[in-house]
Amino acid sequence: MSNLHDVIIVGGGPAGLAAAIHCGTFGLRTLVLEAEERAGGLATKIRGLENYPGFQRKVSGLRLTEKMAHQAEKNGAELHTSEEVTNLSLDREDKVVDTRKSTYGCKALILATGDGMKGVGMKWETWLGAGVAYCAECGAPFLKGKDIVVVGNVKDAVDEALRLTSVAKNVRLVNHCDMIDVDEQMRKQLEKRKIGLIEGFEGKEIKGRPPSKQLVLGHLSGSGTKTLRTNMVLVVAGVKPFVSVLRNAGIRTHRQGCVVADGFGRTSVDGVFAAGGCASTVGDLVPACVGDGAAVATCARLYLAYGC
Ligand SMILES: Cc1cc2nc3c(=O)[nH]c(=O)nc-3n(C[C@H](O)[C@H](O)[C@H](O)COP(=O)(O)OP(=O)(O)OC[C@H]3O[C@@H](n4cnc5c(N)ncnc54)[C@H](O)[C@@H]3O)c2cc1C
Repeated sequence: MSNLHDVIIVGGGPAGLAAAIHCGTFGLRTLVLEAEERAGGLATKIRGLENYPGFQRKVSGLRLTEKMAHQAEKNGAELHTSEEVTNLSLDREDKVVDTRKSTYGCKALILATGDGMKGVGMKWETWLGAGVAYCAECGAPFLKGKDIVVVGNVKDAVDEALRLTSVAKNVRLVNHCDMIDVDEQMRKQLEKRKIGLIEGFEGKEIKGRPPSKQLVLGHLSGSGTKTLRTNMVLVVAGVKPFVSVLRNAGIRTHRQGCVVADGFGRTSVDGVFAAGGCASTVGDLVPACVGDGAAVATCARLYLAYGC
């Protein structure tokens, strides 16, 4: 294959760019495929990033990721923007990556596509790892013994709420905009497990710092709000289309769409790694994703060198 690379990185957010800088530095033929017109991912939306090591003053997420993209290219990585990956074929040693524009091959693949889950549109619901979670399996150790409010608009939210009762102290379920058709049988199950079902409201905003979070709900009639105090808000709103691409290619994911990866970023498919938000919503902050991207790139490099 003429388009064969050592490493292809899907996603040019902080995790993908950090991985690209690392792979490029070590002389690997590296290609980053980014769906959007510019690289940087969700971090481009951050006006004042306060927690990035080395910056005493707030730094713009856009400027920071622009610098990362330049560094990746300077170190030899190729960066293709406006190239969404639409299919993966991973059954041979050389992995095949399809975009709407072309087909590429690689020996190692790093997934850095960010969260696979959809939100419901609440203010601050993307502040993951700060008392907000999208993946109950990734966050399991933090959910034990806690008061949890599940906010969802798909039937999976009912299933997650029921499951959570085996670990959490108290579980409530907000049927966001009454979009879940809760039948009699579900109602009985929820009652039996003592899950408070809240209907007639939409999730508006998540406030506060862990362990004390506040979930502001707006009445669907438009008249008034109410605030629930809790330890953790779990958002369950279905998965993004790319999760189906991963599942069809044989990559194991959690129920809510996160890629299942071990401590080295290895997925269920040999030579395929996952970094940043796509592998866990718990550590989904820019510095954590950058560190993860570099660490996982190291593992991919060792995989290419030693085949393990
Ligand atoms: C409003 C807001 C404020 C935030 N504030 C902070 C903060 O102050 N501090 C902090 O640490 N974190 C903050 N975060 C979180 C931070 O932005 C994320 O933790 C970080 O961007 C995750 O990095 P990532 O590389 O894993 O994923 P993303 O940033 O989500 O990047 C993933 C990239 O993959 C691309 N992609 C997805 N699917 C495909 C595909 N099929 N083909 C090709 N490309 C694809 C996407 O277009 C995207 O560019 C904030 C997030 C938001 C939304």
